[in-house]
Amino acid sequence: MSLLTVGSVAFDAIETPFGKTDKIVGGAATYITLTASYFTKKNNIIGVVGGDFPKEMIDTLEKHGVNTEGLEIKPEGKTFFWSGKYHNDMNTRDTLDTQLNVFGDFDPTIPASYQDCEYLMLGNMVPALQMTVLNRLHSRPKFVMLDTMNLWMNIALDDLKAVIAKADCLTINDEEARILSGDYSLRRAAKTIMAMGPKTLIIKKGEHGALLFQGDQVFFCPALPLEDVFDPTGAGDTFAGGFIGYLASTDDISFDNMKRAIVYGSAMASFCVEKFGSERIVGLTQEEITTRVQEFVQLAHFQI
Ligand code: AMP
Repeated sequence: MSLLTVGSVAFDAIETPFGKTDKIVGGAATYITLTASYFTKKNNIIGVVGGDFPKEMIDTLEKHGVNTEGLEIKPEGKTFFWSGKYHNDMNTRDTLDTQLNVFGDFDPTIPASYQDCEYLMLGNMVPALQMTVLNRLHSRPKFVMLDTMNLWMNIALDDLKAVIAKADCLTINDEEARILSGDYSLRRAAKTIMAMGPKTLIIKKGEHGALLFQGDQVFFCPALPLEDVFDPTGAGDTFAGGFIGYLASTDDISFDNMKRAIVYGSAMASFCVEKFGSERIVGLTQEEITTRVQEFVQLAHFQI
């Protein structure tokens, strides 16, 4: 089934306790589509970059089978820039700088060939833009997944609530779930958030795994305890790309299949954090992915 992803395509400057990078390619849509490429062949991207964006990265996306027809290039403009610094625990970070550049007045055009997408991934960005994309699709996709962040809860809550109401599945982290619901208990927070519209909610807890909620059902998937976490940037997007890529490839949105999808998402995210930026999620083999997924099975399986 075909997947459409919309989101930032960016330059990131990242600082972790292990090192610092100068302007490397990042962005939610970059991580999501690269990761989804291991699952689905119909993998379409909508985004915008400036004339400063490296052609080699567009080639890399295309080599991974990503259809870049919807990636607009504005030769006279500059690519979205984000800079962040991680604290020692690597679970929390501060945003140091955000320069919207060409992303600031992005007016997305949806290529005709993308119109029939069955799975839609609305990557983290200003909620009004997520809504524009939904409105510009001639028919509603079978499954709409939404990612967001605390920033929009603080500065665009009404727009965010409007787009949350239209999503089938929302993915946020534990801190964001508490802000959005006003409740400390994640179980209660999940109920409050699902009442806002999405039937399914994923709460990510960084190195402590992820929770999947639907109605009264809950499932937990741990994160792989790695010896070295190098750079968590993009882990959430990589997780989302693995999750929705797996759902699109199997075309099964049952709760049981979502349990498998969350394991695939977590496995892909475990690769992402092993190197800076998107380096580790480029050129993975199916064998590496299968082996990693098996590690999750071993990690969490027990009998009583
Ligand atoms: P994650 O670590 O999964 O939360 O995602 C990190 C990516 O999100 C980085 O590559 C950034 O370029 C991108 N990003 C950060 N802030 C924003 C924002 N305000 N809008 C869109 N993308 C963003």
